[in-house]
Amino acid sequence: MVELNETGIASFGISMKTQELVKQAESHLASVFARIEDTEYHNQAKVLRALQEEKIALHHFSPTTGYGYDDIGRDTLDKVFARALDAEDALVRPQFTSGTHAIFTALSGLLEPGDVMLAATGRPYDTLEKAIGISGEEYGSLRRQGVFYEEVPLTEDGKIDTPAVIKALLDTEAAMVYFQRSRGYSWRNAFLPETDLAPVFRAVREAKPDCLIVVDNCYGEFTQKAEPTAFGADVIIGSLIKNPGGGIAPTGGYIAGTQEAIERIAQRLTVPGMGREVGSYAGSYMPFYQGIFLAPHTTAQSLKTAALFARVFEDCGMETLPASDAPRSDIVQSLRFKTAEALIAFCRSIQAASPVDSFVVPEPWDMPGYTSKVIMAAGAFVQGASIELSADAPIKEPYTAYMQGGLTYGHGRLGVMLALEAMRKLNICE
Ligand SMILES: *Cc1c(COP(=O)(O)O)cnc(C)c1O
Repeated sequence: MVELNETGIASFGISMKTQELVKQAESHLASVFARIEDTEYHNQAKVLRALQEEKIALHHFSPTTGYGYDDIGRDTLDKVFARALDAEDALVRPQFTSGTHAIFTALSGLLEPGDVMLAATGRPYDTLEKAIGISGEEYGSLRRQGVFYEEVPLTEDGKIDTPAVIKALLDTEAAMVYFQRSRGYSWRNAFLPETDLAPVFRAVREAKPDCLIVVDNCYGEFTQKAEPTAFGADVIIGSLIKNPGGGIAPTGGYIAGTQEAIERIAQRLTVPGMGREVGSYAGSYMPFYQGIFLAPHTTAQSLKTAALFARVFEDCGMETLPASDAPRSDIVQSLRFKTAEALIAFCRSIQAASPVDSFVVPEPWDMPGYTSKVIMAAGAFVQGASIELSADAPIKEPYTAYMQGGLTYGHGRLGVMLALEAMRKLNICE
């Protein structure tokens, strides 16, 4: 006979007091969890419909080789994603190495020499700076291909400055207005498609009807009942090792949007004149179908985990964004610590909670492209997958950690307990 408390939660060295505090936090989240589940149920139905309407069967999972003409697994996966993401059409490819690669492919398929790209949500995600040519003179960047870049910063309180966006749009006659839905790694809220983005989309359309509206949708998929495409975005883009891969897709990205925009991007995806007709995959397509099927649930598990982290640390007086009961449009939870020591201890506790590489102790390091040291906790099955429980933090004031993911709430909850235990050892939480 083994003692139950030697095999369960207590076997992680989590005290009764910590377990009690987490249970107490959880008891305040019933209505928050109910709202997350309501969204999950809506999106699960939407994805199931998509799979059924495309009559998914065994032959869609088969690998292909060579040119990949008439690859039914690939072509039908595009259709399933289009339906699931409120779009007319989509390109879903394991060959997208990352979200950044998918975003760059979309931008370079839509922009031509002389065009202006206008960023409406301030500076885009770090990895896009060189790709666009905002910083550096990289060969192949949009800037070297003759595209001009302009940006409108967010307001002080992290909102889109619509009048300034419209003025810049009219001044520059921009061909594209670009939005980033997620907070990324900044202290602001993610933009809700219906209430934050849709009004700006309408204003953009009114000012310049032929302007393309493009959204970096990374981390946002299935956190709400409808994607930005449902409110007039021409194109949305994301990574399959985040929400829409459901934790199952091993790699890849997607681009979804209007038929017209997707046809243009398809020419850039492979070769003008060949477009989407080619491209084989010698692995099975099954993880991508299964991934999108699981995605509404996995995303909901991540959202619940994020809300629990927020509530537990709010209860010990820390600043959190979003607040535990706020609506969410991405899976990222920002937490502010008072000291570098606490920030590092927090990230180490997330690593210690991981199913893979749990024995590794993350250290702050000088990551290329960053001005301060960065610490990263990621013990994921899929390398770098941030739909799995993970955390990152630059070691600078204000000491902010960005945590996201959790394939199951049961796991996320253990992560919260280990993190709280670590904070209590530092006397940060009572
Ligand atoms: C993850 C992410 C990207 C793309 O990053 P990759 O690491 O290249 O997949 C772009 N924008 C945002 C907001 C993201 O969260």
